[in-house]
Amino acid sequence: MLPLKPPTEAWAILGLAAEPTLAQINDAWRRLRSAAHPDRGGSLGAFTRLKGAHIVACAYASQPRDCALCAGTGLLPTKVRGGFVTSVTCRTCAGTGRV
Ligand SMILES: [Zn+2]
Repeated sequence: MLPLKPPTEAWAILGLAAEPTLAQINDAWRRLRSAAHPDRGGSLGAFTRLKGAHIVACAYASQPRDCALCAGTGLLPTKVRGGFVTSVTCRTCAGTGRV
């Protein structure tokens, strides 16, 4: 579970679908910021709203997430000879369960 709520309004302001990557967020910001800037025909309100959406969307996208390989457990099951199953530390997240 991620500590921050999904910023659906910020994604909508940036014109993005749910769960955008940081790269997609930054691309949208670069694409939209010029037109929204008060010096280029935009309004201060629109620019401030867009800037806030960018910050909130980036904060959400930057949060640590559960490791996809070990599903946040930090361990991977390994089958060994004789039918015994042991666990090894996940190398993707180094056992933290978060990436
Ligand atoms: Zn892992």
